[in-house]
Amino acid sequence: MPALVYFKSLCNEFAMPLHLHDTFTRQLKEVRPHDGQSLRFYCCGPTVYAPAHIGNLRTFVLQDVFRRTVEANGISVKHIRNLTDVDDKTIRAANEQKLPLEDFTRPWITRFQEDCQSLNMLPPSEEPAATAHIPEQMKLIETLLAKGHAYATDDGSVYFKVSSFPSYGKLSRLDERELQSTVPEGPQDADEYEKADRSDFALWKGRKPEDGEVFWETPWGRGRPGWHLECSAMSMAALGSTLDVHGGGVDLVFPHHENEIAQSEACTGQLFVHHWFHCAHLMVEGEKMSKSLGNMYTLDDLTKDGLSPLIVRFVLLSGHYRQQLNFTFNALHAANEALRKFSQTLLRIIPRAEIDLATFRHWCRAPGDQNELFNESPLQNAWNLLCRDLNTSGAWGQLMKQRGRWEKEKDPGILQRDLQALAHLLYALGLEQLPFAPEEEKSEPEAPAEIQTLAEKRWQAKANRDFATADELRDSLKNKGWLVKDSRDGYTLRPATKS
Ligand SMILES: [Zn+2]
Repeated sequence: MPALVYFKSLCNEFAMPLHLHDTFTRQLKEVRPHDGQSLRFYCCGPTVYAPAHIGNLRTFVLQDVFRRTVEANGISVKHIRNLTDVDDKTIRAANEQKLPLEDFTRPWITRFQEDCQSLNMLPPSEEPAATAHIPEQMKLIETLLAKGHAYATDDGSVYFKVSSFPSYGKLSRLDERELQSTVPEGPQDADEYEKADRSDFALWKGRKPEDGEVFWETPWGRGRPGWHLECSAMSMAALGSTLDVHGGGVDLVFPHHENEIAQSEACTGQLFVHHWFHCAHLMVEGEKMSKSLGNMYTLDDLTKDGLSPLIVRFVLLSGHYRQQLNFTFNALHAANEALRKFSQTLLRIIPRAEIDLATFRHWCRAPGDQNELFNESPLQNAWNLLCRDLNTSGAWGQLMKQRGRWEKEKDPGILQRDLQALAHLLYALGLEQLPFAPEEEKSEPEAPAEIQTLAEKRWQAKANRDFATADELRDSLKNKGWLVKDSRDGYTLRPATKS
């Protein structure tokens, strides 16, 4: 049998265990819990000083799909996602608003958690905050000082000595010269402190006047933790010295994750992470997100006109996680149409499968054994695509392919089997709120006869290419309080909402 045919037949017959690209080895690796029980999964969380933008949220949505897919593979997950509630930005903003740091960050934490919930992310097992883990961070520093991997300076700061950790740079594959030139000369870490070498990074930052009341007492002086240290302290406190999978945005590979590896491994002498999982950036309408372009959209910006956050979730996972996704408003509208159509198909086939909506929703919340579900199932390709490096768009494409077949299928048994497999996939994608509840599919009120006659005349005028008359009739309908929307084969009328 030719290799390709053999591979295809393998894909069709067996459900595949989850494989994910690992940034460290640049290879696809099987995801597995090294203790044989549950997967220890750590994600760098948000800095809580402003609402998260959709670029941040995309990374968290993809991490959620990863976690759900692991769970749908029958493996439990211990998922830790931290909150950075002390750093330059939070301190500056709290001081500007004359608030204690905690009073400033609390509402942003709540806002972030609400956004995650709206986007149907499962809550992490723990969400530790940096300020609640100062003793753990101090302990790491004490160990690193004792082992000669760190040094204190006169201003009360402590630095990690990069030259004491020969494998520094392995994750990002930068050589020493590149490391020196990559370290920014910005004001934060580099020049205001007296470090010995340019690539050394701050574990602890000595107190500066602008820090106000934000400081902790330590044996080496008053100050606060450096940002990189908190992730090592909190991940190891919750999950032990070695993590199975560590996730974050691709911008964190260097220096943040490189620094996490150095300080953790120098401290414990053990491997810090088995598998690195990084998500690519988001573009908006073909451009980089930036404050000056005003395109750093929040979830509220996109849903304030009543769009379901589930549509936003769907768009955020509509491209492969390792490729830049170009977010556009056209894509948002197209996703809205696609999900509503898919939803309508489901509402038609669920009764024909002789089950009720509540049963289908139950299947979506409690995914069954995938080996049984996908064995010889037409949805097996969709499942295998998801399990091969989280190909979310490929998996969705396979689901869309089934729609036509389901519309024609008469056998309740076949429909039931497919719906069970579909429920498993919807759980993994976090789209288990589908189908939208029938009551949400509001039918438009019927237009009075006079309006219908005008609309019909307009359609005829358009068909005769008399666009001037068609436009006049559209305006006249609008003046009478009705909007007309054309599609390829006809038109629909809906009442204009008063603004
Ligand atoms: Zn981190």
